[in-house]
Amino acid sequence: MHASATASATFAPALSPAIAPATIPVRELLPWAIFGGMLLLLAIYFVGVEEGAAAIFNTMYVHEFVHDGRHLLGFPCH
Ligand SMILES: [Zn+2]
Repeated sequence: MHASATASATFAPALSPAIAPATIPVRELLPWAIFGGMLLLLAIYFVGVEEGAAAIFNTMYVHEFVHDGRHLLGFPCH
């Protein structure tokens, strides 16, 4: 009986409405979202487009490095 009373006293503050998740304003979140989106577009470029005539690097190192990712994401390869 003593253990259950201790447990309810321990977990009661976690259910209290005084502890609410912190709100993040869109004004502070937007630059990070744009930055993450640019990194995502760069990753999609290197996985999907970086080969052949449109390649930044003339070697096939980037293509071979992301080759399994190309097949996983369904980009045409070979
Ligand atoms: Zn392939």
